[in-house]
Amino acid sequence: MNFELTEEQVMLRSLARKFAEQEMFPKLKEYERQRKVNYDLIKKMGELGLIGTNIPQEYGGGGLDYTSAAIIWEQLSWASWTQTLTSLGHNIVTGTILTKVASQEQRRNYLPPMCKGELIMAIGVVEPNAGSDAAAVETTARLDGDQWVINGTKNFISAGGIADIVLTLVQTDRSQGTRGMALIAIDKGAPGFSSAAVEMVGNRAGDIANLAFTDCRVPKENLIGEIGRGLQNGLIGIDVARLFVAAGAIGMAQSCLDACIKYTKERHQFGKPIASFQLVQEAIARMAAETEAVRLLVYYAGELKTKELPHAKELSSAKWLATELAVRVSAEAIRLHGAYGCTDDFGVEHHYRDAALGTILGGTTEMHKLIIGRELLGINAMV
Ligand SMILES: Cc1cc2nc3c(=O)[nH]c(=O)nc-3n(C[C@H](O)[C@H](O)[C@H](O)COP(=O)(O)OP(=O)(O)OC[C@H]3O[C@@H](n4cnc5c(N)ncnc54)[C@H](O)[C@@H]3O)c2cc1C
Repeated sequence: MNFELTEEQVMLRSLARKFAEQEMFPKLKEYERQRKVNYDLIKKMGELGLIGTNIPQEYGGGGLDYTSAAIIWEQLSWASWTQTLTSLGHNIVTGTILTKVASQEQRRNYLPPMCKGELIMAIGVVEPNAGSDAAAVETTARLDGDQWVINGTKNFISAGGIADIVLTLVQTDRSQGTRGMALIAIDKGAPGFSSAAVEMVGNRAGDIANLAFTDCRVPKENLIGEIGRGLQNGLIGIDVARLFVAAGAIGMAQSCLDACIKYTKERHQFGKPIASFQLVQEAIARMAAETEAVRLLVYYAGELKTKELPHAKELSSAKWLATELAVRVSAEAIRLHGAYGCTDDFGVEHHYRDAALGTILGGTTEMHKLIIGRELLGINAMV
């Protein structure tokens, strides 16, 4: 058992943290207030190799193990979970799917520009009637000559409004159930494709969109992987998303803790720094202890995933505990800052808004509890 990060991981951690502190945090407020995506960040992240972290080097990625890639995500989320999700989240998810199931030609076409931040690709699974139950997807794809004709809608798609291509889960034959499902790459310029931005509690410097496909046509060759394996192939990406969402939640919790340590030593009430009150120290001690404990669980899930060992229980535990921890810690951080914490001047309020989102995407807390239950008891209580 080795709890030490490798030299490379220490170096990556400090590179990503420096980027978060110097490039992300100083301009975050401006972009959040204007509700704008910072495209410069995406470009710079691409140049520094912070986007395709776990994509193989032969396709322009970093070829990193999952724990190392999660450490980068954690550090970037220290500044902004939303900007991290918007800049590289969708690429990591779709990039992983493409690496595992796309043809050689598709990998060569999509992955190198994606790793440079020049091509943005989103993943479209969720629909009005298919949320936690992804097998209920109703968007249809029908072959007409050498084109797919797609009809349906996708909801809450990260980077859905800015993506050049959306990897979309479709149903090619409803009578086949999940065996009729497939992933199809749909270009944003395809006829019949439109998107509409979604306003959320957090994600202010990000992009979430609902997508509509009306007799949308794309070439037959845009099928990614096999018909009949669309759901399984989509889940390959969702499994990675769970790890990175968990790592991002740890980054948010650490950021809130750091802000509280600084602020409670500076803020005086009753003639002393508020850090000298025992209740304040208890809150900070709890934040620190829980963040450290769950961080180890997240890294452990990453290690199991890298080694291709069974990891469903550990990853679901990490995703559940890390995201719920970020909700609690960010709320506590707001309280410790008093009314100042409710403004966007102290670097905790945006985490409070973003943390809520982390408990939902990549599977809700309830879904992860049910996965753990299924792993331990051998009974699927989800259906
Ligand atoms: C910030 C953000 C980004 C997202 N990005 C993407 C994206 O890029 N691509 C994409 O496809 N989707 C994306 N989503 C959608 C996300 O995957 C879904 O919101 C999520 O899967 C839950 O589905 P739902 O919102 O329809 O909730 P529902 O499935 O309707 O769940 C509502 C509630 O019911 C509970 N519930 C449901 N079924 C059960 C059950 N069997 N047992 C117990 N409780 C149950 C849930 O836990 C939840 O509390 C994103 C969502 C957010 C918030």
